[in-house]
Amino acid sequence: MIEIDRITRLYNGVPAVDAVTMTVETGTVTVIVGTSGSGKTTLLRMINRLEEPSSGEVRINGESTLTIKPHILRRRIGYAIQGHGLFPHHTVARNIGAVPELLNWSADKISARVDELLRLFSMEPATFRNRYPGELSGGQQQRVGVARALASRPDLLLMDEPFGALDPVIRTRAQDDLRRIQKQLGSTIILVTHDMEEAIRLADRVAVMDSGQLVQHGTPAEIITRPATEFVADMVGRVERPLRLLSLVPVSELVEEGVAEGEALPVDASLRDALSVCLWTGRAAVPVEQDGVLVGRVTFEAIRARARAHP
Ligand code: ADP
Ligand code: MG
Repeated sequence: MIEIDRITRLYNGVPAVDAVTMTVETGTVTVIVGTSGSGKTTLLRMINRLEEPSSGEVRINGESTLTIKPHILRRRIGYAIQGHGLFPHHTVARNIGAVPELLNWSADKISARVDELLRLFSMEPATFRNRYPGELSGGQQQRVGVARALASRPDLLLMDEPFGALDPVIRTRAQDDLRRIQKQLGSTIILVTHDMEEAIRLADRVAVMDSGQLVQHGTPAEIITRPATEFVADMVGRVERPLRLLSLVPVSELVEEGVAEGEALPVDASLRDALSVCLWTGRAAVPVEQDGVLVGRVTFEAIRARARAHP
């Protein structure tokens, strides 16, 4: 359990984070959402002491982080920032294994962990472990970046706008993958975003920041149905609309005969889901199934044509 207790950070006497108190349960995803300048990054960086609080403290399992040396603390806490930040001259395997290597894990243990994470992200180890970042699609690079942040099994993973650089359609897929992997590994994640839709999709608990203050902390359903302030209501109201049409059309409308690689989507999945899979995996088509039986495929081209027909 992570307890943030009246934590404050002043810059030139002005609070960037103003007496924020919140508890994060182990094994959950908390998303801190707010507009630019609301104090999200400062709050996140005080958790691993990249930024020192002016007052207040953070406790991890009852232990104040002020009593832990910052470099020890940062080994226990993973940190992922916008963009993937991969080392271009290192293979995928070395990139993912970078922190375990620092922690002196054995070569066998690192190798097993790399393969486990690649499989979790649906990247066949034999195909991908020896590639360089430049030989991957943007979505694959992003997956490797998140795999790297998870590699050393941190107690806590802090993520600052990790999908901010991704196209909104790929982002949906990235969020789903992160959520699935978080559930499988039982990780505790605190993620910062300015995107309320991302917060609602990913979070067990959403924490809304406005001008350095925590204005609401609740489940996504509570945030949507009972926004605590006008500001929260306004953020919920602005959730993006451009892809709404594709979200409403089931894959069944565009199913055609033919085969495709990869995991099948059910016929009642949306075209938006199918588009996400195409862009995220770099495949031109996705197999479609009904009650466990393959019924055909839906292609990227067909989805694009449909989106263009109804702008
Ligand atoms: P967010 O991540 O929500 O965009 P930040 O935490 O980066 O917000 O910043 C919150 C406020 O604190 C902003 O007004 C910003 O200008 C200010 N701030 C952040 N870092 C510093 C700094 N090192 N020195 C002075 N002001 C800062
Ligand atoms: Mg920020």
